[in-house]
Amino acid sequence: MNYDAFFLGQLDGLRREGRYRVFADLERARGAFPKAVFHGPDGVKDVTVWCSNDYLGMGQHPKVLSAMHAALDSAGAGAGGTRNISGTSHHHVLLERELADLHHKESALLFTSGYVSNWATLGTLAAGMPNCIVISDEGNHASMIEGVRHSRVEKRIFAHNDPRDLERCLADLDPDRPKIVMFESVYSMDGDIAPIAELCDVADKYGAMTYLDEVHAVGMYGPRGGGIAEREGLSHRLTVIEGTLAKAYGVLGGYIAASEALCDYVRSFSSGFIFTTALPPALAAGACAAVSHLKSSSEERARHQDRVARLRAGLDRLRIPHLDNPSHIVPVMVRDPVRCKEISDRLMDECGVYIQPINYPTVPRGAERLRITPSPLHSDDDIDHLLASLDAIWTALDAPREAAVDARHPLAQLCPVAGPLRMDPADVGVDSCPWVGERASEAGLQHAAPASDETASA
Ligand code: PLP
Repeated sequence: MNYDAFFLGQLDGLRREGRYRVFADLERARGAFPKAVFHGPDGVKDVTVWCSNDYLGMGQHPKVLSAMHAALDSAGAGAGGTRNISGTSHHHVLLERELADLHHKESALLFTSGYVSNWATLGTLAAGMPNCIVISDEGNHASMIEGVRHSRVEKRIFAHNDPRDLERCLADLDPDRPKIVMFESVYSMDGDIAPIAELCDVADKYGAMTYLDEVHAVGMYGPRGGGIAEREGLSHRLTVIEGTLAKAYGVLGGYIAASEALCDYVRSFSSGFIFTTALPPALAAGACAAVSHLKSSSEERARHQDRVARLRAGLDRLRIPHLDNPSHIVPVMVRDPVRCKEISDRLMDECGVYIQPINYPTVPRGAERLRITPSPLHSDDDIDHLLASLDAIWTALDAPREAAVDARHPLAQLCPVAGPLRMDPADVGVDSCPWVGERASEAGLQHAAPASDETASA
């Protein structure tokens, strides 16, 4: 086989579809977020970043930076080993305590990323409990899907955010069989929010464990930043709460918070925890400072919501089509990969605005979008400039103007061609789509490109 010819052929296919990914070469400017320097083909220019998952700007917060500087100066660069073999620093221990307290749980366990925490924890729990079955929301993230796939246990998929369909999946199962019901709180592409209490009611009725991914909510919701579960007084109802330190907390790493026994079990049996070097102590110290700060300060959360509301009102005024949802994620719907890239390029080239286009497999085909993430640090002028830029480009392209669309039933609304729950395997090729990834794997597409929420994790 001519290996490179194969790879190049596959890449050409992506280019033909308009979804070949070009990474923006950025230099974030410390203290100036959301401003950054863009290194483009025509040289260097200043841009405003509108698609970062440093949701609250904590990646540049003085407390976080000074904690990281201090830890770097006192403890050095790397952890020096796995957690078991010399790599546990006091900064890891303090951070785990902080996270357990954040979620009102007995214990917490750190991983090198949110992806790894989902993959390792779900893989370990599902594989370890005899005859376990997993019941998964069809919108779940690739890291959760991959963890369960790795465990090779049976899995059922329930319709997105639908407690009644969850019940359908659970009702005929042996009551004694171990069961994990897994879902997210804020879904990162549509920004819709799970009915956590109702899903927990159903899980409790059938004796299932509950696993909640709060990656897009920790730091941002709840009186102390404990996520949607904390905001709704439900933390105690989740068996496991999983989160990241890389988005609202601005650093890197992932974690679970749960009972002492469960965390100790994962710590002791999970290869994704055991066989990898621990996070650098300085990262743990920075994340700890961010978590601790956001436990006591709600200023960032309030300002964040204010920025989101202002942007949405402007989009409504201009009738730039976007999904209406109850979170901080503002998806502007373009529904065409080539046009989505064109708008993104024009925003960058003509307006100094950076928003990465989001294509399949991060979202279904026909649901291409600009995923906008306002932060507390975007000024009124930044918002006005973004709106004026979008308005001008919409006019230049004669793009459709529409009222906001309700995000609550995204599958039904965004896949008019494919139909809500149908994916054509021939169309999918070797990819799996994380957004409808559960359906793709159901169709026997095990040969998954490790699709992920690119805007969040790439
Ligand atoms: N879970 C969800 C829902 C995500 O969207 C992501 C990444 O974007 C992850 C987990 C992985 O988190 P991390 O970026 O910390 O690896």
